[in-house]
Amino acid sequence: MSIAVHQLHKKFGNFTALDNVSLDFADGELTALLGPSGCGKTTLLRIIAGLEFADSGQVLLDGEDASATHVRERQVGFVFQHYALFKHMTIFENIAFGLRVKPRHLRPSEAQIKEKVTQLLELVQLDWLADRYPPQLSGGQRQRIALARALAVEPRVLLLDEPFGALDAKVRKELRRWLRRLHDELHVTSIFVTHDQEEALEVADKIVVMNHGRVEQIGAPDQVYQHPATPFVYGFLGNVNLFHGRVHEGVLDAGGVAFDAPGHQDTRDATGTGYVRPHELDVARYTPGADGLAVRLGRVHSIGPLAQLELVRDDNGALVEALISSERFAQLGLKVGENLLVTPKRLHVFVD
Ligand code: ADP
Ligand code: MG
Repeated sequence: MSIAVHQLHKKFGNFTALDNVSLDFADGELTALLGPSGCGKTTLLRIIAGLEFADSGQVLLDGEDASATHVRERQVGFVFQHYALFKHMTIFENIAFGLRVKPRHLRPSEAQIKEKVTQLLELVQLDWLADRYPPQLSGGQRQRIALARALAVEPRVLLLDEPFGALDAKVRKELRRWLRRLHDELHVTSIFVTHDQEEALEVADKIVVMNHGRVEQIGAPDQVYQHPATPFVYGFLGNVNLFHGRVHEGVLDAGGVAFDAPGHQDTRDATGTGYVRPHELDVARYTPGADGLAVRLGRVHSIGPLAQLELVRDDNGALVEALISSERFAQLGLKVGENLLVTPKRLHVFVD
């Protein structure tokens, strides 16, 4: 099923939770809604589900206005961060629940329920847990069961609200890969809410970045990461160094050092900021007269194949972060306190 929302507005008292949100979710796609806590992700999900109503705007399910469709008829499956499974029911019964509470004329037979639940347990690769009770399962297993339970009623849309948010980093990583594989098998239109940029980048076909109830950017993970549309998206999707300065005819003058400012050939006498990710900085030994920003090497953190360098600017003492390969670091033979020059391999300038 395809989903579209059109010019949604939602206020809680004086607080604007959604501010003119328009989005399309294509049939069979897995979209990540990414943004900081409080930016309106859950509110948007609840409006799509029919659990909450917008002040104005439309929700379209397969092109049809959904305002008259009750939440029960929208055929949505949910998984929340704390989706409490029924503690006193076996895993089997938890998954069967949605089938058992169907109206009599739609309720499957006992044999059909058994077949369906067995299938779902196999799908989430936990068939050996059928007779256990939720407290006997790990957090990761419980969320997989919650997903199986949501899928039991064959939803046309799957809404996942920070489903792995309460799990530790390692399990979260495993589960997001698992979810991606599952989605490739099922192709249910899915919306996955997260405030974790790495999770969104890894799992989704498409990312919607939200901030303060507004959509900042929509795009494929690569596109959003490589070409952030706004300063907010730049900062939210990963570490970034900022170089403030004067932008004039294609050049950013950031305190005595000139960087190319692509796309700003026609900008005159403006102030602006250059955005450079740590891995986009080139680091070299200091040579008098050579181009680059003069820094001194502070701390070094080695993380396996990468070396993360904390650099201190000579001109204003500000910190700059660079990420280079450990191999390159060893080649350079750098010592703490040593003078270096950094130059951006790639720089994006936003004019104020
Ligand atoms: P997110 O899921 O991105 O963290 P939410 O959609 O839950 O954000 O909330 C967005 C904002 O709306 C928050 O500031 C929250 O406090 C507020 N909010 C959400 N639901 C309600 C409500 N029922 N009443 C009042 N304020 C709410
Ligand atoms: Mg939320």
